[in-house]
Parts: sequence; structure tokens; C-alpha cells
Amino acid sequence: MDIQKLTIKKFGDALRKKEFSALEITDAYIKTTEEDTMIRPYITVCDAAAREEARYVDGLVKQGVEMHPLAGVPLGIKDNILMEGIRTTAGSKILDAYIGGYDATVVKKVKETHAVILGKTNLDEFAMGSSNENSAFYKTRNPHDTTRVPGGSSGGSAASVAGNFALGALGSDTGGSIREPASFCGIVGMKPTYGSVSRFGLVALASSLDQIGPFGKTVEDAAIIFDTIKGHDVHDATSKVGEYAATSVYDEQHVKELTLGVPREYFEEQMDKDVSRAVEDAINVFKKGGFSVKEISLPHTKYAVSVYYVIMTAEASSNLARFDGVRYARNSEKNTLWDIYKETRGRGFGDEVKRRILLGTFVLSSGYYDAYYLKAQKVRKLITNDFENAFDGGNGGVDAILAPVTPTKAFKVGEKISDPIAMYLSDIFTIPANFAGLPAVSLPVKKYPLGKELPVGFQIIGKPFHEKDIMNLGMWYERETGTN
Ligand code: GLN
Repeated sequence: MDIQKLTIKKFGDALRKKEFSALEITDAYIKTTEEDTMIRPYITVCDAAAREEARYVDGLVKQGVEMHPLAGVPLGIKDNILMEGIRTTAGSKILDAYIGGYDATVVKKVKETHAVILGKTNLDEFAMGSSNENSAFYKTRNPHDTTRVPGGSSGGSAASVAGNFALGALGSDTGGSIREPASFCGIVGMKPTYGSVSRFGLVALASSLDQIGPFGKTVEDAAIIFDTIKGHDVHDATSKVGEYAATSVYDEQHVKELTLGVPREYFEEQMDKDVSRAVEDAINVFKKGGFSVKEISLPHTKYAVSVYYVIMTAEASSNLARFDGVRYARNSEKNTLWDIYKETRGRGFGDEVKRRILLGTFVLSSGYYDAYYLKAQKVRKLITNDFENAFDGGNGGVDAILAPVTPTKAFKVGEKISDPIAMYLSDIFTIPANFAGLPAVSLPVKKYPLGKELPVGFQIIGKPFHEKDIMNLGMWYERETGTN
């Protein structure tokens, strides 16, 4: 069997027909991982536990019991998501020796399906970055071109799926960290509506923006994972109670009723020519397919990055206060509290993390709070209102929005590392959906075989809790273009 051609769907069908065993597939993925010295998507590989789970699934197949679509599916989990008994570093030296004390709710849900968790994937330290170069351990590379970054911060998860180290993965998205690496690696990545997936057990970056979401080779695969992890959780006060429609079920009639919007402002920003051309191609597929596609306006888009670096840093500086050498990350020999703090945080955090803690502490400090933090919250509201107007009819009345994901294709390792502002601008098209808490999926414009051409993705942004709309639109696009 050729694992390059597998999808979760095909894997499930073939497993049930006994064309291969779950253990054979798990072994094939572990072999790819062991032979690789270049892409390196995993910080920790859980090979023994993975093989044990695969054997268990083979037992279920033998007994002929009904199984979840993820049973036996090899998955990667971003290393800022806790797994009981497994090292969880969040890409930081400060958590180098930290062992997860419990399973995050998403991990618990995934384990209940008997998916095979292969390992914990690399990320920018505390999910701060767009290239994986801020990982305290090493740089994961893009499987399409190893001189380039896989994107970030969930670069390890995206590279694991694109490079055939896993069949699906979980990542987290605060300002684009699922969608940007999905776009750079030529796969599908979805940021769910804020509150639709539990954040319990996710190492927090910015709690009002963070969401856990899936990666897959196809929209359907990503939808299968999303359907597994979504839903209310008593352990996360921001998770929403309610009915969640199955997103992985394709409903052509429903899709064809949806009206689409294209935000003018997203094409006025600096963007590489071949990226804008590719995104326009994707939009044309929808137009030719008979969809009503309208131009809309999201006028406050241009403020998104500046506002993000106030709100996200403010929340990050508070969240990261817990890494003080007392409860977590105790490796200081010093005696006074102040010296323990200084040593643990001074040595444990990398430059980007320190930069953001300083910035966040500053914008929250008395005398500056109103000028920065409060003002940023007001602009966040304006950005949210832009979307509400677009969806509500005041400004077009669309059901979903088609947009670019990033202004460039995957850039070279090292190209932007010394210019944080250039790096921050990679997120201009992804941050707004986090501010408004909207679901958004990034999918490749076409199929990009490894090593041939650098992938480009486009984004479908939906109304809150309308994951079914965006995933079904994505499935329509894949069917129409033969990319599923
Ligand atoms: N690249 C953005 C940042 O550096 C987004 C990170 C994320 O979504 N976790 O903050």
C-alpha cells in the first residue's frame, strides 16, 4: 500500500475490507519518521503506545465490531496539547521536562475513537510564530521544499500530514497557526468557531483567540476530525452548549444555496502575484459553478495585525506568568523567589516569547492601558462588526467569504527571522477570523505533488457555528476540481 495516497476515508474503507492491518500502516508511518532526518515534524514519538493501539484496532476488525472513522488512523498532536504521561513542551525549554498530568479534552475524545497517536508535533515556542523557527528545539522543514519553512506555529502538525508522517493532526490557531501552515504545506487546516472545541488542556497563548482544530489531506478528513473533537465541555467555560451539525456529511443541495462574498480589502494588501492569481482562480471555480459571488467590504482589516499584537501580547503576558519556576518548570537552585523567577524565566524563555511578554506587560500597565489595550478592544469590535455586516445583509448578506490565507507562499528558512514585523504581516488575512471568533478553513487551490511546485491555499470563512457551510463548500470545490 502507498501511504502517500491514503486519506482517512480511504484508510477506513480499506481497513474494514482487511486490505491491510492498522499495525502495518502504523509501522509504515513510524518507518517514515525514523528514516527522516530533514523534515522532523515530531518533538516526541509515541511509537510503543501507537503500536499497542493499532494492535487493539486490529482486534476490533477481527471481531467485526463497528468502529469510529478515526479508529486506527495515525495522528499527530501539537505539542502544546496535554497528553497524560507524555512530555509536553509547547516548543519551549522552560517546559523541557514537563510531563502532561492529564489528557486534554480533545485528546480524550480522540483516544475514545481508538485513533493511533503517533507523536507530539513541533511548534513555535508557545505557539508564537509563523515559521516554526521559534521552536526552542529545532526547525521543522516544509516537505515540498526543505529549504523553506512549513509555516507556524502548527508547522510540525502540517508537515506531519503533508510529508506522510501522519494521516491527520491537531493544531491550534490564535492568529492563523492552523491555516497558514496548511496553506504552506498544501493540505487542509480548519480553525473552528471560538467555543466549539474545548481548550481544556491546551497551553494557553491568548485565551480569547485560541482554538484547537484539525489538519487533513482533504476537507472531508479535516471534517471527520472536527466532528470528533467538537462540542461542549464542562472544563472550558467558553465552550458552547448546543447541537453541532455533522460537518463531514456532504449536502450538495445545501451548498448550492449559499451566497459567497469576496472582501475587496484583502486584495488591496501587498500580496505576491502568483498567490493572488491562484486565489482568483479558486474564486472563479465557484463563479463558474453557478454560485452567486459578491464583492464585500471589510474596511477595518488593515488594523488587524496592530490590534492583534496588543491583545494577544496582553493575554500572553498574563497566561505565561504561571511559568515562574515554582509550580511549573522548577529547575533553579536559587533560594529567593525573585532569583528563582529571574533564573527560570530568563533562561527558559526564548527571544520572541520575551519580546511578547514585555510588550503585553507594557500595554496593560497603568497609564498605558487605555491608550493601547482598551483602544485595541474597541478596534477588535469594529473588525467583528465588519463581518456581522457582511453576513447580516447590511453589506451584502453573504453566507461565507472566500479569501487568501497568506500574502506569500512558504518562504525560505531564515528569510524573515530577523525582521519580526515582516513575520507578523504573514497573518494579516488570518487574524480577523480569530478576532470575530469565526470558523475558517484553508484548503489548497489544487493538488501539489511533493517536490514539484510550492502550494497556495485559499480560505473559506463562515458564520459562527456554521462549520458545515464552509466544510461543505470546501468539499464541493474539491469535487469540482478533482482534488479530493
Ligand atoms: N503567527 C501568529 C503569531 O505569531 C499566530 C500564532 C498562532 O495562531 N498561534 O502569533
